[in-house]
Amino acid sequence: MKPRILQIVVISIALLGPTTARAQKTDDYLFNDSHFHLTNYIQEGISIRDFLKIMGNKAGRVALFGIPLQQQWSYRVDENRGPTYYLNSDAPLYYYSFTDAWIAMSYKSLSKDEQARFDPMITGFNPTDMYAADHIRRVLTTFPGVFTGIGEFSIHKEFVSAKIAGEVASLQDQALDRLIDFATEVGLVVLIHNDVDVPFAKPGVEPAYAAQMKALFKRHPNTTFIWAHIGVGRIIRPVKDQVAIVEEIINDPQLRNVHFDISWDEVAKYIVATPESTKNAAAIVNKYPDRFLFGTDEVAPPNQEKYLKVYNQYEPFWKLLTPEASEKVRKRNYERVFDEARRKVRSWEAANVAPRASSMAN
Ligand SMILES: [Zn+2]
Repeated sequence: MKPRILQIVVISIALLGPTTARAQKTDDYLFNDSHFHLTNYIQEGISIRDFLKIMGNKAGRVALFGIPLQQQWSYRVDENRGPTYYLNSDAPLYYYSFTDAWIAMSYKSLSKDEQARFDPMITGFNPTDMYAADHIRRVLTTFPGVFTGIGEFSIHKEFVSAKIAGEVASLQDQALDRLIDFATEVGLVVLIHNDVDVPFAKPGVEPAYAAQMKALFKRHPNTTFIWAHIGVGRIIRPVKDQVAIVEEIINDPQLRNVHFDISWDEVAKYIVATPESTKNAAAIVNKYPDRFLFGTDEVAPPNQEKYLKVYNQYEPFWKLLTPEASEKVRKRNYERVFDEARRKVRSWEAANVAPRASSMAN
C-alpha cells in the first residue's frame, strides 16, 4: 500500500501544484471562455495550436469540447451533397464518442503551460443510456489529468433533439440522474444545454421545461451546474417570466451551485436587442454577479475576429455592468468554478486511476 500512497501524493503535488499556480494569471486577458467547440457537427474543426494563436492575448482560459453529435451523410437522402450542419439534412444525428479521445489527444499534444489554459470537457455520451456514466469513467481512466467537466450536452434542444437516432432524451430519465451523480462524485462541472420551452409555444402557457429543469437541479444539490445560454435558443426567445425563473433558482439556497452561461451570438442578440433589454439583463447580472459566466459558443472559428464576435456584440452590455460584475462574469467566476473542479477531479483520479507506469511495470 505504501508505495501507492506515495505515488498518489507525488501525483497530486505534480498535478495540482504548478497547474493551479499557472492557472491563476489571467489578468492580462479580456475574458475566460466557458463554452467553446473545437470541432463541428461533422467532427471537423481547427487544430488546437491554431486556436491558441486565435486566443492570443484575448482569451485566458477556455472550456474546450467538440460536439457529441455527428451528422450522418446519407447518400440515399443527400446524394453527393455532404451535409455539414444539422439543419442541412433530414438524415439523423448520432452520438460520436470518439470526440472525447480527439479532445484529450489535442490537449495532450500541448506543453504544460499551454495545457493550463484549457479545461477539456467530456461530451461523447448518450444521456438516455444508463451506461453513460460508465463512458465518463472510462474516459477519465484512459486520459487521467485531462478533463475538468462534462458537456456541453443537450437534453431538449430545438431542431436537434428530435433528429438524434434512438430514444429522445428527457430531463426525467434515470440515466441522466445516474450520469450526473457520477459527475458529482468525481467533481466534474456539468454544462447542460436545455431549452426552457418548446419551439412555437402557445403564448401564456407555462414554459414546458422550466419546472423539470428546476427539479433536476434540486435532485442534485451538490453538483456544479452551468445552464448553457440561460435556456434560450434560436427561436426559444427569452420567455416572459425568464427573469423570474432565473431569480427563483438564484435565490433558492439549495441551488447555490447552479450557474448560467451567456454564450452564443443568439443570446447576445436578445440581450442587446434594445437599450431596455440590455439594461434589464445588466440589472440582474449586477444583482447576482457570482452566477453568470461569459462564453462564446464559437464552433471552430477560422480567425480571431470571428472568435471575438460575441464578446464584441456584448459591448453595450459590458458598459452597463459594475466593474465587479464585469470582472466576475468575464473572468473570476470561471476561475472559481473550474479551478475547484480541476482540484476535485485530479484528486478523484489520484485515488481511483492506477498510474500508467506502475500498471505497465506490473
Ligand atoms: Zn455550444
